[in-house]
Amino acid sequence: MADAPLALLAELTHRCPLRCPYCSNPMELARASSELTTAEWARVFREAAALGCLQLHLSGGEPTVRRDIVEIVAAARAAGLYSNLITAGVLLDAGLMARLVEAGLDHVQLSVQDADEAGAERIGGMKGAQAKKRAAAALVRQSGLPLTLNAVVHRQNLHNLSELIAIALEWGAQRLEVAHVQYYGWALANRDALLPTRAQLDAATGIVDAARLANRGRLVIDYVVPDYYAARPKACMGGWGRRFLAVSPMGEVLPCHAAKSVTGMVFPNIRDTSLEAAWTGSDAFNAFRGMAWMPAPCQGCAHAERDWGGCRCQAFALTGDAAATDPACALSPHHAMLAAAVAEAGEARFRYREFS
Ligand code: SF4
Ligand code: SF4
Repeated sequence: MADAPLALLAELTHRCPLRCPYCSNPMELARASSELTTAEWARVFREAAALGCLQLHLSGGEPTVRRDIVEIVAAARAAGLYSNLITAGVLLDAGLMARLVEAGLDHVQLSVQDADEAGAERIGGMKGAQAKKRAAAALVRQSGLPLTLNAVVHRQNLHNLSELIAIALEWGAQRLEVAHVQYYGWALANRDALLPTRAQLDAATGIVDAARLANRGRLVIDYVVPDYYAARPKACMGGWGRRFLAVSPMGEVLPCHAAKSVTGMVFPNIRDTSLEAAWTGSDAFNAFRGMAWMPAPCQGCAHAERDWGGCRCQAFALTGDAAATDPACALSPHHAMLAAAVAEAGEARFRYREFS
């Protein structure tokens, strides 16, 4: 029997004014016409709460491109969910901020692409974005809502990590997520331009350690290290179908936001089924639950209940087999692929995300 999920990621849309080359959206982006309606999202939220979910992450794309974002936040509040708006901030103005607060929004997570203005605008592919983000952070702070800054770090912005931490302090964030890129979808297509060097990684880890000490009680820093330098994989999503579920803009119920990259898997759709049936009874969720599905060397491994064999999307992206041991594990027969990818990295240009 599946435990209750703790959190739901609602990907309200794939539309976004930015074009980040590491975007976690699938390569094939959903059109606005196929997106779930306000009423369909409200139903998803009620069913998530009934299933035991406590937290709701409103994401995208950029969730504020939805004209009904205020109604969606109100529906989350009506369902009793703690709502977190994950936004690039470039569409947030004082009027919208006030309406979101009134509708019951609980938290804002704002992305920042670089500390350097020109670098940020090059990475995000949008002119003028940094000034809008700074203004958005000020609006969130004035509203009284807690603010988290999310900085995805990679080869082309790690030299500015200290400045990114300074921005988090200057903009009044209580928490900063320093997250190395995860390589599937758009990020995998840009891997040669994004993978950091070992020297960059070691410097970043030192900077984060020092900043945590220096800013204790003022700024919490979460740090997600890159799999490509790891000896053990991450417990991706706390294990497939254990704690987390996502719903795509067109209603597919997914065990993680990247699961659509596992081509060939069929995911249940909220338009045809209930969230509970998708969570407890679908083949997609049950495929990699628990440990029975695990191949050698995971089968019987002492770490299996801690890392759950790593990331299924990464296993599929690198080996073509979603049931393989994550190559991030040093015990995987495919582990050498990661060092080979690191050796090949160094491309300067990005392939920006775009609708095909
Ligand atoms: S990663 Fe960039 S492009 Fe993708 S949704 Fe976030 S801000 Fe938009
Ligand atoms: S063999 Fe499997 S379970 Fe063991 S550490 Fe590696 S990924 Fe984790």
